[in-house]
Amino acid sequence: MGKIMIIGCGGVGSVAVHKCCQNSDVFSEVVIASRTVSKCDALKAKLEGKTKTKIKTAQVDADDTAVLTELIRQEKPDVVLNLALPYQDLLIMECCLAAGVHYIDTANYEPEDTAKFEYKWQWEYRERFEKAGLTALLGSGFDPGVTGVFSAYALKHYFDEINYIDILDCNAGDNGYPFATNFNPEINIREVSANGSYWEDGHWVETKPMEIKRTYDFPEIGPRDMYLLHHEELESLAINIPGIKRIRFFMTFGESYLTHLKCLENVGMTSIEPVTYNGQQIVPLQFLKTLLPDPASLGPRTKGKTNIGCIFRGKKDGKEKNLYIYNVCDHQECYKEVESQAVAYTTGVPAMIGAMLVMNGTWRRPGVFNVEEFDPDPFMDALNKWGLPWKVCEDPELVE
Ligand code: NDP
Repeated sequence: MGKIMIIGCGGVGSVAVHKCCQNSDVFSEVVIASRTVSKCDALKAKLEGKTKTKIKTAQVDADDTAVLTELIRQEKPDVVLNLALPYQDLLIMECCLAAGVHYIDTANYEPEDTAKFEYKWQWEYRERFEKAGLTALLGSGFDPGVTGVFSAYALKHYFDEINYIDILDCNAGDNGYPFATNFNPEINIREVSANGSYWEDGHWVETKPMEIKRTYDFPEIGPRDMYLLHHEELESLAINIPGIKRIRFFMTFGESYLTHLKCLENVGMTSIEPVTYNGQQIVPLQFLKTLLPDPASLGPRTKGKTNIGCIFRGKKDGKEKNLYIYNVCDHQECYKEVESQAVAYTTGVPAMIGAMLVMNGTWRRPGVFNVEEFDPDPFMDALNKWGLPWKVCEDPELVE
């Protein structure tokens, strides 16, 4: 039994709050703290009376570390789950250190003025968390998150050595809009319009955005076009999976999404460089975000499934072995359960599970860690229990 503070009450935060409230034997109290407190209050009103978990809300701007530290000190949660935006990661880690509380997030730090994300800034906190006797668990969403847990599980139970990993993220959901993003539009567009890259033979190979395209026949979905992207778990898995020779990440995109993105890029609407308009400085991508549908509003309209998983190639008892571990999630089933679409669901559930394992001590170790550095078994069991059951295929189609 313990208390969690969840910072951020958007698409992912809302799912995590729902799941903590379903898991009230572990989470007896939840504090929802976010910039717009009315969203926290609305969520509290929706859930109160249907859960044993005690829910409290608070207004906080995480950019103000003094105020956030004070709030954490007052509330004394056992863990803080950061579901605000990647820009806030380092600030919230600082507040957790100052208040002496464990930290969990789902996305690595990205400076607001440069579209570049990497773990180095957060890994630099290792010694400070170690000295404070606190755990920081990084990237406990689906990808990163479950993909790292799948990798640790495959290594523990199926392989002596994993040499190749292909992470495949397929969203075959249709929300009826010609162009909408399934999570925060600013973060999503920064990610997909950046150069791609993959890890091979000890170094990064850079590609142009969307340069590498493959078609894959996804179980329970069918054939979809997918494109190679840089993705944050490549960085930690390249270090934490011994014997790895190559690791790549592919995401599916539909024709309409790509055509709109290209056009928006061509006219400069995805730029993060401020421009002056009528004497006022605006960032084109932030302006675009105000025009696009709020991802949290896509739930009722999204139909179809997601399939996210990892294909492993390596060796067991001297023989070559292939394995595919994946989860299929249905957008409408998610909406029925927590009033969110599957992209928020597949992130919010593992965020709750990571927070639970840190809170109950199963995954507690002083320092800063990525998910694949812990024993995957309790996380894999919890995925089956809390709504993201996974499957293992020993004879998968491979990606050339
Ligand atoms: P949303 O934009 O829907 O929600 C973000 C929330 O954080 C909003 O409630 C927002 O408040 C709040 N917030 C933003 N800035 C601050 C601040 N300075 N102080 C306090 N609260 C703040 O985003 P998502 O829910 O889609 O994404 C949340 C996180 O999950 C992101 O970091 C994203 O990168 C990550 N993610 C990870 C995935 C994974 O698989 N690992 C997949 C998808 C997302 P307001 O309501 O005022 O805007």
